[in-house]
Formats: sequence, C-alpha cells, structure tokens
Amino acid sequence: MYQSCPLSYRLRYIDRLEAKEKWYFSFGKTIHLCAEHFFRVKVPPPSTLEELLQFYEQEWLAEGFESAEEEMKYKAYGREILSKFWEIHYPEFRPPLAVERLFYIDVDGIKLRGFIDRVDKLESGGLSIVDYKTNRDLFTIDHLEQDLQLTLYQMATEQLWQLPVEKLTLYHMRSNTPCSCGPRDSQRLEQARHLILEVAENIARGKFPATEHQYCPCDFPEHCPYYRHQYLVAAGDTVGQPELPGIAIADSVEQYVSLQQQIKELRPQLEEAKQAIIGFCEAEGLNRVQGKDNSVTYKLVEMTGFSEDEVRELLAPAGLWEQVLSLDQSKLKELLGDEATAQDIRKRLESLRKVVSTSARLWVKKLEDEP
Ligand code: SF4
Repeated sequence: MYQSCPLSYRLRYIDRLEAKEKWYFSFGKTIHLCAEHFFRVKVPPPSTLEELLQFYEQEWLAEGFESAEEEMKYKAYGREILSKFWEIHYPEFRPPLAVERLFYIDVDGIKLRGFIDRVDKLESGGLSIVDYKTNRDLFTIDHLEQDLQLTLYQMATEQLWQLPVEKLTLYHMRSNTPCSCGPRDSQRLEQARHLILEVAENIARGKFPATEHQYCPCDFPEHCPYYRHQYLVAAGDTVGQPELPGIAIADSVEQYVSLQQQIKELRPQLEEAKQAIIGFCEAEGLNRVQGKDNSVTYKLVEMTGFSEDEVRELLAPAGLWEQVLSLDQSKLKELLGDEATAQDIRKRLESLRKVVSTSARLWVKKLEDEP
C-alpha cells in the first residue's frame, strides 16, 4: 500500500482510519476461509462437498453488497467456485505442511509479520507456496514474477523451515487455476530486502506524499490533497473550504480553463501575424517595422554550441573528456571558465564554438515608450 500511495498507507495503518466495507473483500474473505478450512486437515479425508458448502453458508460475510440480489448472485457464484475447488482437490488431497501460517521475519532490524495461505512439501523435499486470490482476471507471468508478496513469503518460508522454496503459486479461485512460477533467485531476494529497508526508512522519516494512481480515490478522499476539494464541494461543505480573501476558486478554475482555450485558439493567428512580419522584414531588409501604436523589432538569434566529435577529439588526449563525458553545454562552460584548464585548450575549445541553430525573434515596444 505504501508503494502505491504513501498517504493512503499512513491514513489506514498509522492514523488507523477505517476502510469502507466492500463486497469483494467480504466475498474474498469467505472463499479464502473455505479454502483454508478444506486444507486444515492433519489426516485425510478432508471435508465432503456438503460439509464444505455448509461451512461456506455459516461463514458467509454479507458486508459491502449493494443489494440482496447482488449478494445472492455472488453467494451462488461462490458455491460454484468451491464445488469445482472440491472436485479438483478432494481426490488428490495430501495434508499441507502449513495452513494460514503466521510468520515474523527480520530484515536487517525491520520486522515483518504476515500469514501464508498454504505451504506444501514437494516430493523433491523442497517447498511450494500457495496464495489464494479472488481477483477477477488471471495472473500474467509478469505479475507472478513481480509479485512482492510471493517474494516475502519465500523469504519467510525459507527462514521458518530452512528448506528451499521450489514453487510459488497465486491460485486464481474464480477459475480454479494455479498460476505458478519458480522461486526468486538471490538477486531478486536482495532487491526485495532493499525495497523493505527503503520503505521502512521512508515510513520512519514520515514521508507520506499523496501519489495518485489508477484506483484513486481510496477510502479517504476527504484527507487527500487531490480529492479533498472535490469531496467538500460534492458534500456541499462551504464552511470547510474557506476561500482566500478575494479569490473564488471555482471561478478561477473556470477562468483559467477558458483562457487556456482562448490562447490555444489564438495561437495560429499569432503565428500567422508573426510570419507576415518576419517575411516583410526579410524581403525589405528591415529590422524594425512600425504599427500605429507599437513597433516590432526583428532579429535572427544565433545559438552557438559545440560538435561532440570535435570536442571529444580535443579533450580526450588532455584527459579532460571524463569531466564532460557527453556533450553537456553547462559542463563545457565550467571547463572554459576554469583557470585550471590549460590556456591553449580553452582557446582551442572556444574556437570550436559554432552556430548550431538560428531562430527569428520579435520584440514589441509601445511607440510612446520610444525616446
Ligand atoms: S485518493 Fe489520495 S490518498 Fe487516496 S490513494 Fe489516491 S492519492 Fe492516495
């Protein structure tokens, strides 16, 4: 959560604001509990289908559904998912090594706590981690490879059992599809460690910027600098949005947008008038033209710079190219002004300066301002 928006993390986990109830959390939790119940068996057989569905009825969480019809629809859908789940896993049932296993890990002094849905011991002696998901879409290979939760589970599992993890799975409950990949290598585990330390340091330093993303707004728009005003306006709260003296912000917003639009519409006309003046000045050999109240001065402005190849050829033998590395005009300027740079190099460098572009510029002056 911190990675997607540090502010929402602070509001939820430090300020402890309550998240809103949502049907997909209730649905996900119930399905999750049932999968856990099915596998939490030390000696086979596991629950029969009737027992599993009875458990589902008992544990059903109704919070967050918008209507009784919606709730019924998802309840039936859940029964379908679990029936298929049972059909697949009952015949091949083997008790897992752990179910809903609580873990604590210490990453260079940072303590993490979590729960792993299921850990299986493979024939090879290695371990397999399974995490149940009720997401709508199947997981892509890229998602599996990037999933930080699986990486942390691997770290925890290897610390807990001192055995290698050989398989990581996100189990897509809606389609009863296990999406699996191999374990993270040591480089990936190291990257995850760095990430944990970086996030922990940012949290300790109180860095909680609001970071907008595709799932905004979160449950706390009234506390977010991107959404607070919209929220207050929608709530009709004028008391909560004191206006600065003389500034009616809603009017300023509309005025700003309208002016931007006018500027955009006028730009082609402005360019046309500019080109007419430039064309006239060039044809008549003039640098200034008069209107009734204003004059416009025309000049060709030359931009000077250096050719990268020529500069490298000059500086490399003197061991100075490293100071520039690529053609960075500001670094070259530093080199030119640096007394420590040999006089002849500075002179020859200056002689390499050439016109790299020219552009026509116009300056306007009010006629009464003329001396
Ligand atoms: S609404 Fe604001 S606080 Fe919430 S996730 Fe988006 S940017 Fe972050």
